[in-house]
Amino acid sequence: MLDTLRRIVQEVNNAPDIPSALDLMAKRVRDAMGTEVCSIYLRNNSEERYVLMASEGLKREAIGRVSLGLSEGLVGQVGLREEPINLEDAFAHPKFHYLAETGEDPFHAFLGVPVMHHGDVLGILVVQQRDARRFDQSEEAFLVTISAQLSAVIAHAHASGALFEQLDAHENLPTIYDGQSGASGAAIGQAVLLFPETDLSSVPDREVEDVNAEIGLLDEALVRVRQEIRDLAERAKKSLGAEEQALFDVYLRMLDRHALPAEVVAKIREGHWAQGALRMVVDAHVHNFEMMDDPYLRERAADVRDLGRRVLGQLQSRNRRQIEFPDACILMGEDISAPMLMEMPQERLAGIVTTRGSRNSHMAIVARAMGIPTVVGCQNLPLKKLDGKELIIDGFRGRVIANATAELKDQFEDIIAEEKHLLAGLEKLRDLPAQTEDGQRICLQVNTGLMTDINRSIERGAEGVGLYRTEIPFMVRDRFPSEEEQRLIYREQLAPFAPHSVTMRTLDIGGDKALSYFPIEEENPFLGWRGIRVTLDHPEIFIVQVRAMLKASEGFDNLRIMLPMITSVFEAEEAQHLIHRAWLEVREEGVDVAMPPVGVMIEVPASVYQARALAQRVDFLSVGTNDLTQYLLAVDRNNRQVSDLYNSFHPAVLHALLHVVEQAHEEGKPVSVCGEMAGDPASALLIMAMGYDALSMNASNLLRVKAAVRQVNMGFLRRLLNEVLAMDNGEVIASYVDLQLTKAGLGELTRHRKSG
Ligand code: PEP
Ligand code: MG
Repeated sequence: MLDTLRRIVQEVNNAPDIPSALDLMAKRVRDAMGTEVCSIYLRNNSEERYVLMASEGLKREAIGRVSLGLSEGLVGQVGLREEPINLEDAFAHPKFHYLAETGEDPFHAFLGVPVMHHGDVLGILVVQQRDARRFDQSEEAFLVTISAQLSAVIAHAHASGALFEQLDAHENLPTIYDGQSGASGAAIGQAVLLFPETDLSSVPDREVEDVNAEIGLLDEALVRVRQEIRDLAERAKKSLGAEEQALFDVYLRMLDRHALPAEVVAKIREGHWAQGALRMVVDAHVHNFEMMDDPYLRERAADVRDLGRRVLGQLQSRNRRQIEFPDACILMGEDISAPMLMEMPQERLAGIVTTRGSRNSHMAIVARAMGIPTVVGCQNLPLKKLDGKELIIDGFRGRVIANATAELKDQFEDIIAEEKHLLAGLEKLRDLPAQTEDGQRICLQVNTGLMTDINRSIERGAEGVGLYRTEIPFMVRDRFPSEEEQRLIYREQLAPFAPHSVTMRTLDIGGDKALSYFPIEEENPFLGWRGIRVTLDHPEIFIVQVRAMLKASEGFDNLRIMLPMITSVFEAEEAQHLIHRAWLEVREEGVDVAMPPVGVMIEVPASVYQARALAQRVDFLSVGTNDLTQYLLAVDRNNRQVSDLYNSFHPAVLHALLHVVEQAHEEGKPVSVCGEMAGDPASALLIMAMGYDALSMNASNLLRVKAAVRQVNMGFLRRLLNEVLAMDNGEVIASYVDLQLTKAGLGELTRHRKSG
């Protein structure tokens, strides 16, 4: 049975389009179960009906025409009950609804199972048979299993829009498509679909006689593509820092004669024409990347695909499609690469949405740096249907809204206007202290990674850097940066903030952050070789990085070094020992720097309970609430399936935070928070009430948090904290805090979390 199941799923997944996938599914399930009918009804949300979309055994002319209301007939019952209905004689059931057009008269036995996806009923899979008999347990189990396995295909079919196009033609109901936030902010604009004009997959196989002429064609195309990338990099300089330019270097290196092109040339020499050879090489690389478990490496498939498209475009010497960009443009595509972003007039770019990709894609990194509201991984977005339509991008929550009602649109227009207004109003706080009405101060710092973060941070009056994610410059390259390259990058971080401190975290890779040139393949990466575990196993990488940091700080002495993913005092001691060694080395080389303060991140539950022991050994602690929440609640921070469970107001998180600050202060050591909680005014205030010394956040949240701090007093905050610490439900806590802050006049500052 398992083999049959696997075969069906594989075949269906390989079907060329969705209607064929559904047909195939019906046919194969009918054959595998030896029944007479297998039908697939899909739920059409705008019609609120189940539509017969494929059938083997019922009349073909009924397909696409016959439908049932959501509570109509046995199909409706399966949907309502969200469980299988297995009947010996369907005709005898009171809910049976006879559909003459289908020709189902002779079929008595009925088994229907719901097709569920993320808790929603997408459709109903039905098998029927002439003989009045109950389908047995194993048949029922088979149908349930196949339905669960095929639900992703059906989810795609369901959402692609194409299936229901005719039925929907007159309907324009508001629809919300869920994805992941790539960059926060809200935007309204007109969707422009970016699709590859040159389609590699359609290139046929052809043989060539004149191999050299074909190689000549390829070389010419490559020269033009390299120039195109250089031009884009030049254009990007205006909106991106020098650091992000490394993205384009990666592209250029892929186009180096010895990289991808060498493989294409080898294929041409085997007798293939250039276009076909290119398709084979690109396909192989894309396939390899896509098979990788690591989400970051999977993203590289998009880069290779994009390059392949560009080279093919030149080989085909087609004129580029001239795209009309509206004034407020929402770029939409399956994958949008960072260079594609640069191809459009920047001043018109309002938002971005992609159906693939994740927060780790290069494009998302660049979008965050540019402050463009972005939603990624919006799998169900019917791209072709939405081209040219007005869309709302809710980058706060990772959603896209199409056909918004006037009310919804008004609401988002208000949010956008308020955001603008708020930011303009907040600018006057730049040089004022982050201090409560009764004089309690807290230090507000920024999290940085890209060079572009620096200017935005300084403009907003950051008091130093609480977390510099050093892995970001490593991620945008295709090899480890050298000690000297690192020194230069780090100096650019340290110089503008001096005399304020800059907390540089040592390389934190593994989990969801990988380097294409240092792949880590694991079953369970978040519980695997991550952060300090990797660098302690590779002192040659760790020491080079620390040496670069120390050298970079010469003359400023504002460096602090922070260790990620610490779970035991042993790791902290081991790392301190290596840092000390690196310090002695650079001193011997004549670099005049003091030994910098060294601290650890508290981001796994073990370190919460080791906080005191750790505080005794290091100079400071900083809580990484992103990982701490994920590990305390056992909720993957990047998994959409469980994103509703990821709640930083969970009592376990709040009590852990309280424990850490108490332990650190018992040892007289400063402690900060550098996860997303620090940048959310509501949680930031609770953290302040706990007694934390500093908060470190994205530059875009800094003034918002400062404004919140300046509008409250410590009496109010302590009372609020005590109240929530006595509560046992994270959802209730989150709503209660929002309510209390709104009552205290801070609604405007906290609203972005509740938008829409
Ligand atoms: C955290 O885990 O909270 C944190 C700040 O680190 P990162 O998000 O880079 O894992
Ligand atoms: Mg972390």
